[in-house]
This record gives sequence, C-alpha cells and structure tokens, in this order.
Amino acid sequence: MDTNKIIFTRSEMLEFNRQTLLRRGVSLESIADIAYKQQKRYSDDVTFELCLESVEKILSFRDVFHHVQLAAEIDRLAEEKMFQGPIQDIIFEDFGLFGIDETMGLDVAGLYGTIGQTNFGDIDVNKAGIVKDLNEFGKDDKQCHTFLDDIVGAIAAAASTRVAQISNEDLAELDDEGHNLFKVSGE
Ligand code: MG
Repeated sequence: MDTNKIIFTRSEMLEFNRQTLLRRGVSLESIADIAYKQQKRYSDDVTFELCLESVEKILSFRDVFHHVQLAAEIDRLAEEKMFQGPIQDIIFEDFGLFGIDETMGLDVAGLYGTIGQTNFGDIDVNKAGIVKDLNEFGKDDKQCHTFLDDIVGAIAAAASTRVAQISNEDLAELDDEGHNLFKVSGE
C-alpha cells in the first residue's frame, strides 16, 4: 500500500488497520471475541459473525484509522527507544498514572456513546483475551503495548455496543407476541 498517501477509502483503511494490528499480534477475531463475550452476558442470541462484522466496520472509520495507526506507531517507537526525555520510560514502562492511552481509548469507545465508554471501562478493568495478552506481553523488556491495548479494548467495546444496538433494533420490530411487525406474512 502507498504510504505517502494521506487519504484512503474505507476499505483501504480497514485493510491498513488489519495489517497493522496483525503486525502487532492482534487479529480481528481476537477483538470480536471480547465483544462477543461481553454481549453474551446480556443475550443468548448474539452471534460471533455480527461481532466480527462490527469490528470490521469500526476499523474502517477514519477516526479509528488514525487512532490505530498512531497507537501502533507510539508503541513501536517506544520499543525502539526513539522518544527523548522521561516520556520514553513513562510509555515503555506503562506507568500506572499515565492516562493518555485511556483517553484515546475513551475517544474511540465514545463513537458509540456513553454505553460504549462504559463497556470500554469494563474491558479495561477486567482485562480479558487479547487485551490481557497485550498487557502481559507489554511487561517484558522488549515489547510495548501501552497505547494499543486501550485502542483494542475500545474497538471491542464499540463493536459490543453496536451489536447491542442492532439487537435492540430487531427487538423493536417485534409485536407483543414476538412476531415481526414489518414482515409480510408468507415472506
Ligand atoms: Mg494502556
């Protein structure tokens, strides 16, 4: 892909994000898995496919593209000791009182409103799946995932919230007996 370009189509941004995440050890399925497990607590009808489709949709948004690309680059530069001054160790050591990574995560999750941000808080505190792995791997002396773990958690939270919204849309179309109000009989 041409890296001198600054504007991309949505499918290009999704593809760029997919490659960047994979290079940093994160598959889209592993993000969808967190969304799936979060929504499964509320509904048995949730499908993994809808979670994965939601992750892909969110990864094609321009705002999210910028967040993923920036987060991955900050972590890589910290691994290569490219920052000068105290911020190098603050990022590399994932200092507990450093919160700009969480601010970026909240920004991404906020694309899906307050519920998106609440879901992000849940994932951030209860670290599961790939978010837990990134957090663990980031503790070794070569890897840094200070920024990406929050962005990944936020994408999972946004996807989870999108799934909840779609499920509610479907519910709203049912009458009291559970029949679809908008479906023509025999269809
Ligand atoms: Mg972090």
